[in-house]
Amino acid sequence: MNAPMAHAAALPMMLTELRLPTIRTQWEVVAHTANREGWPAERFLSTMLEMEVAEREIRRIERHRSESQLPAGKLFSNFDFTAVPNVSKALLSALIEGDAWLEQGANLLAFGPPGVGKTHLLASVGHALIDRGKRVYFTRTTDLVQRLQAARRDLRLPAEIAKLDRFDLLLLDDFSYVRRDQTETTVLFELIAERYERKSIALTANQPFSEWHQVFPEPAMTVAAIDRLVHHATILEMNVESYRRKSAEQTKAKNAKRKTATTTDDH
Ligand code: ADP
Ligand code: MG
Repeated sequence: MNAPMAHAAALPMMLTELRLPTIRTQWEVVAHTANREGWPAERFLSTMLEMEVAEREIRRIERHRSESQLPAGKLFSNFDFTAVPNVSKALLSALIEGDAWLEQGANLLAFGPPGVGKTHLLASVGHALIDRGKRVYFTRTTDLVQRLQAARRDLRLPAEIAKLDRFDLLLLDDFSYVRRDQTETTVLFELIAERYERKSIALTANQPFSEWHQVFPEPAMTVAAIDRLVHHATILEMNVESYRRKSAEQTKAKNAKRKTATTTDDH
């Protein structure tokens, strides 16, 4: 056995033990190049470590994306801003690129009727933040209320709310679907109060604030919740025509045209 191989015999085991899977699979190829080209030891070592660090970062982001429960494919790059003229793309880009609002625990609220892209837009912000190393959690608000209620029954509501602290952004979809007559929504208020000025919340709502008395059990709680949510917030008013309906109509029109064209051809 030649000298370098003798040194290498225990490498796979040690690299496994040290949890360095990328170095474990790549070292032979890189070592071959390094030996052939006479790399200084420093260059070899730093190349190997850089590969491990880069892979680790990719895996971390993948993990964050899968824990986030964000809908796949709802990206900033495929959101058509021309459909929502009063939403500024520059403003959204700034939110994605700057951390100040997350550090402040500021919020992002999107209002508008169904189908205008509220969920898509906020999910796209979530995806972009994950790309930048942040942690995000997306949930239907009703699902979260159920979960918090169950925690409250087991006397572990504070612990359940604290668990959500690991997320820089909590994205509550369809906030105003929650109804106080269907569930006990005080837990939602407790969540908002607990995250206030510490951790950000993003939410989508079909109903304007004036209808939120349906959500919380008492008017005072509604006012207090809104007050905290809007204190540091970016509010997006998306009062446009449904994108869903518009694109369905466009497809229909296109198909009709194609049909007419085919019929004409037949003659
Ligand atoms: P909302 O949450 O307001 O009800 P969604 O975000 O679910 O609306 O949008 C409905 C559908 O239309 C989704 O498939 C979404 O990807 C698409 N959509 C809506 N607005 C846009 C847009 N401006 N650009 C691209 N796709 C859009
Ligand atoms: Mg939606």
